Amino acid sequence: MITIALSKGRIFEETVPLLAAAGIVPAEAPEASRKLIIGTNHPDVRLIIVRATDVPTYVQYGAADLGVAGKDVLLEHGGAGLYVPLDLEIARCKLMVAVQNGFDYEGAVKQGARLRVATKYTECAREHFAGKGVHVDLIKLYGSMELAPLVGLADAIVDLVSTGGTLKANNLVAVEDVRDISSRLIVNQAALKLKQDRLQPIIDTFAATVAARR
Ligand code: ATP
Ligand code: MG
Repeated sequence: MITIALSKGRIFEETVPLLAAAGIVPAEAPEASRKLIIGTNHPDVRLIIVRATDVPTYVQYGAADLGVAGKDVLLEHGGAGLYVPLDLEIARCKLMVAVQNGFDYEGAVKQGARLRVATKYTECAREHFAGKGVHVDLIKLYGSMELAPLVGLADAIVDLVSTGGTLKANNLVAVEDVRDISSRLIVNQAALKLKQDRLQPIIDTFAATVAARR
């Protein structure tokens, strides 16, 4: 059995065409069925639907052989036990620093002010601000980061931005890039050895499909 861990939403949707290129077609859509284990046209290939942040954990422990996870999630997870052969170039966005419209971020940084930063991405944020020599107090959040500056929880947030629509809707502006983000194929290292004959063709087809899109 080959098990592939995916999260619902954009990662699932953008992985379906890659799976199709490898001849793998899900039996149903996760939103429609609410099932957490989804069969495919191959009796020995199944998809499991987990939270985006849990994908590396399932693959790390071998509960899934393959997974698709955002670089943001992999940086926070640390990547132990994972082989990351491929940037799938899907679910592209940017990790950015954002503040409430009118907050003088550059000024605060120049003055050496200590900033309160709310984020789900504490590891990436810690590294980013340390690299700039900016002192920060990090506040860990699990969602709706955009709210934090509006109610005085934080001066700034570090969050994923694609169109900027969510920032704009909440009177926030992006002030700094932290890094580009896209989703990666991750592989359990032991599975790659034990099931190489099944996994390698999938990895190779994904790689060829990504390359052909460039
Ligand atoms: P939830 O939204 O259910 O709380 P989540 O935020 O962990 O869960 P998603 O929002 O589906 O999950 O994000 C999953 C992955 O997709 C992220 O880890 C990131 O790599 C990528 N992603 C997140 N936001 C965007 C975006 N706005 N544009 C493109 N890719 C994104
Ligand atoms: Mg989200």
